[in-house]
Amino acid sequence: MEECAEVTKDASKALRFGLDNKYQGTFPAERLAEELDDLIGVREMLTDRGVIRGPSLEAIAAKKQKVIKYMAHDHAQIEDLDDERTNRNDDEPRRF
Ligand SMILES: [Mg+2]
Repeated sequence: MEECAEVTKDASKALRFGLDNKYQGTFPAERLAEELDDLIGVREMLTDRGVIRGPSLEAIAAKKQKVIKYMAHDHAQIEDLDDERTNRNDDEPRRF
């Protein structure tokens, strides 16, 4: 649980400051990578002790596909918004 919280914190810092902008002496990308390493280490310990099963390669592949799908959807929406802004006629009332 502690490692999950640390990943959340450093992912939030990366979103706020950018992955490659130094924050408190280190780069958020490096801090996030370190916390993900910690989390993977804890996961391996739980698996090694038989507390939880090992990683499911199928589930990991499915998650990657889902993220790719949603990222493509988000990018399409952003492009639609950019097109709307580019083609906006300032004389027309705005749609909200
Ligand atoms: Mg940690």
